[in-house]
Order: sequence, then structure tokens, then C-alpha cells
Amino acid sequence: MKVGKIYVVGFGPGSEEHITTRAIYALQHSDYIIGYKTYVDLIEHLVTAKSIVSTGMTEEVSRAQEAVKQAEAGHTVSVISSGDSGVYGMAGLVYEVLIEKGWTEENGIGVEIVPGISAINSCASLLGAPVMHDACTISLSDHLTPWKVIEKRIEAAAMADFVIALYNPKSGRRTRQIVEAQRILLKYRSPDTPVGLVKSAYRDNQRVVLTNLAEMLEHDIGMLTTVIIGNSSTFFYDNKIITPRGYQRKYTLGEEKQSLKPHQRLKKEAEPWALEQEKEAATSTEREAKKKTSSLNMALMAVAMVTKTKIDHPLIVQQPLEQIFEFAVSPGVANKFITPEQMRLLAEIISEQGSLEYTPDHRFIVKLSTEEPDVIVEKLKQNGLMVMPIGDVLNVKACDFCYGEKAESIPYAEEIAEQLGGLKLPKELHIGFNGCGMACYRAVFDDIGIVYRKKKFDLFIGSKPVGRTAHAAQPVAEGIEPENLLPLLTRIINEYKENAHPNERLFKYFKRVKRIQDFIYHDMSSKIEVEPAPCGD
Ligand code: SAH
Repeated sequence: MKVGKIYVVGFGPGSEEHITTRAIYALQHSDYIIGYKTYVDLIEHLVTAKSIVSTGMTEEVSRAQEAVKQAEAGHTVSVISSGDSGVYGMAGLVYEVLIEKGWTEENGIGVEIVPGISAINSCASLLGAPVMHDACTISLSDHLTPWKVIEKRIEAAAMADFVIALYNPKSGRRTRQIVEAQRILLKYRSPDTPVGLVKSAYRDNQRVVLTNLAEMLEHDIGMLTTVIIGNSSTFFYDNKIITPRGYQRKYTLGEEKQSLKPHQRLKKEAEPWALEQEKEAATSTEREAKKKTSSLNMALMAVAMVTKTKIDHPLIVQQPLEQIFEFAVSPGVANKFITPEQMRLLAEIISEQGSLEYTPDHRFIVKLSTEEPDVIVEKLKQNGLMVMPIGDVLNVKACDFCYGEKAESIPYAEEIAEQLGGLKLPKELHIGFNGCGMACYRAVFDDIGIVYRKKKFDLFIGSKPVGRTAHAAQPVAEGIEPENLLPLLTRIINEYKENAHPNERLFKYFKRVKRIQDFIYHDMSSKIEVEPAPCGD
């Protein structure tokens, strides 16, 4: 006997162009098409099925049962849902009916879920790009879900700043839910939050309304409407609703232009606020280089191709953005003690939302949201704390000079920190400064190690400070006169800054060029072979 099959088909929003090829295949190869009458009418012209079973909207269970019955009799059946059949559609229900009968994939009829474009996507496309970022769908129908649960989900989604697509927002009978939803959302989101109402997307009576959270109920919302609510950074532009791809701009100290590290954040060119930097590119070569890479320009080129007009001025989108301020803080280059007042100040500045992370190089990394970075830096400095940028910059760390007993060389360390600390480099670089030959703060394991000995300095370059093939730095000079130390370091740093590849740590640079200043490279890595093991492996 022929084994039957059920396709559970999502046919998309309703227009023929938006049905997938697989969905059409399923419909055309089915003996039966089963679905809600309105939906069957939408796809009827596409199919040649012998029998079409259209039922009322509330008869979902009987539709699923009918489908299973026909498939068990050896027929091929398509059960149809609008949008995606797995999003408030028939897919789950068909499985539930099958499970009740003890069905398994191995022994039972065939089941294929054919995905379709769900309303969140079809409606979003008509509004602009309102989804873009983390989003969720919530059905306001309390027909099968207790209102308490729905309420809780709205609250959680509102609180967590999700873009929200409300399905089944309102019907003739259910009118209170959308009012309640609005009330909850307004607890967490501004009344101006962009809201899109899309009725019958890609169908004959399509209607698109742009409104906001405060005014959304003044418009017609019904059974065929999807309500899309923006997050806190969603904005209107030219009759569209746009949500940027990220909404935290991070910035650090000492950089005029705030670059965004790829592993920490979204790529600069992919972020709308990068549009602003476009204008500011300093040189014409820089401008040209940016023109090629920025997503804005790709977008502008696409627009120009379509409209055959050249747009000279990038569209600048201004919006308030939450700023995440990142910096390192420590009690000083040599000082390793932090006072209760300093701790209290840090706690107060960081408050509930910020974070304070202790790092292997004796400092805290602070991350917090603020509009006043300068005020914060000033307060910390006034309280004797040292504030430094983080990222690919030069960082100086010194030993504690035996709690100050061997304090002679501290001024040199401080001067190095003052002159070179925070300098932007191709890759992070640590200078370790130790006050005696014991080198117990492990200066020789830093990118550059300096050891004070007999009133002079020994210099070490090019350790590999991390990884399974870590190794100490190479001793390159002994007995450097104090007055020569800073000039020499400055030359080394400048050479590295000018010539290293982006992301090339000092030891790699030294190994590649074989010579820094007058110092010749010697391989300091052990000859023991170990397998490379990147983080997480
Ligand atoms: N399976 C469907 C959702 C069914 S629930 C899907 O994935 O899209 C029914 C709800 O979906 C409606 O109340 C409406 O909110 C939304 N919806 C479905 N099709 C729509 C369309 N063409 N335009 C706007 N909203 C639609």
C-alpha cells in the first residue's frame, strides 16, 4: 500500500511571488489541500488537487485530524498555513495529533514542514528595516494561552528591549489585549517609539501605517494586522522604520575617532553611526578608501544605480545612542595599594549597571554607560587613580619596588608611563618595569622588559607573553644609562608603530624583521613542539 505524506505548508504572506518553490511543489503534488477557507482561496488557482477541504478558522484540530486520516489512507496531503506553518501555524498541531496516535518518523506516514515567510518578516519588509536586531513575536490571542502568561512575556520583552512583532493583536471579540499591551510597553519604552501597523501584507487590501507607541491605538488594528514595535534605538527615516544593527557605541580614552574592535563589537562600516565618520575622513586617500568599504556607500551606489542620480551627500542619521565608556584604572604605575575612598568612588561611578574587571596586569577594566566621560576621568584622577585607555595601546606596569623600599627608579617608570602610556599601537604592548635584578614582577615576560640594576637599566624585547608557546623576552642590552632609556624606548616604539602590521605583536614583528634599532633577533622560543591551541580549543 502507498505510504501517505503530509506537507505542512507555509505559503508566505499571500502573494504568489512570495511562495517558495517547495511550497508550490507540495501543493501541486498533493491529493488533498486542507486549510482555512480564506487561505485556500488565496492559493487555489495554483493547485490541481482533487479535493480541497476548507474549514472555518476555529476548526484547526479537525483540519489536522482530517489530514492525518487522509495520509494514513495513503494520500498525499498539504495542510496550509499563512506565513510560516511553524509560527502560530498548523505544524505543531499536526505533530500533536500524530503523537497522540503513537506516530514515529520511522514507522509512520511522511511529514514535511515547508517553511514560509512569516508575518514578522513580510511586514518588516514593508516598513523598512524595523527588525534587524534581537526581536521576538508575541501572539496576543488568549484563546489557548492564559493572559497572565502573555502579559508576562510582553513585560519581559519590553524590559529587555526586544523589537516586538505582535501577532493576532485584535479581533472583533478581543479588543482589550492590545490596550493592555500598550500600557505595559509604555512602562519601558518612550511614547515616541516607532510602531508599524501592517494589515494584509502582500495581499489585495494591504495597508501600512507608521505611528508610535503613544498613538498606535488611534489607528485601525484588526485580525489581519501585525504590529511591529521598535526597540529603544529604532528611528523613523523617510517614511520608514529603521532599527540600527547595534546600539551601543563604545569608546575609549585618548582616541579622537573611536574605532570598534571586530571581536568586541560590530564592524564600524556596518554601523549607522559610522555614517557620520564618513564625512570626517581626513585625507582624500582615506576618503577614497572609506568610500569603497563602507556599507553606506554600497547602499548609496545601489540607490544611484536604480535612480540614475548620484547622491553626493551621505545621509546623516542622528540619533541618541547609549555610550559605553571603557578604560583601565589602577592606583598608579608602582603603587599597588588602593584606598577605601578610591574603592568607594569606583563603586559609586560604576553603580549597578557598569562593570569592574580585575585583569592579570594589575588593573581594573571599567565599562559603564555615561554621557560624561570627562567628568568621570577627572574625579578618578583627583582621587589619585591612574586612568588609561585600553585596547591596542601601550601600557606600563611596574613592580611595587619592595613596597617602596627600592624606590630609586620609580621616577623613571613614571616618566615612561607619562610619555608613552596610552599610545595607540598596531597591537597592545606592555612595558614591564622592575626595580631590581630579582625581576619578580616578571618584566622579562612582557613585550618590553626593563630591569633596574646597579643604577643602570637592562632591556629585554620580544617576549611571547601568552599562549602555549609563551617564552621570555630576549636580553638585548645591559647597563643602559638612565638618561638614554626613554629616548631608546621611544625609538623602539616608534619603529614598531610605523612598521608593524596591524595586529602584529612586538615579538612577531621582531621575528619578522630580525632587527629593531641595533638589536638583532635571536629565537627565544623553546624547541619543544606543541600543537597550536586557540582560545576555547
Ligand atoms: N503563521 C502565520 C501567523 C498566523 S497567526 C505567520 O507565520 O505569519 C495570524 C496573525 O499573523 C495575524 O493576526 C497577523 O497578526 C499575522 N499575519 C499573518 N499574515 C499576515 C499578513 N499578510 N499581513 C499582516 N499580518 C499577517
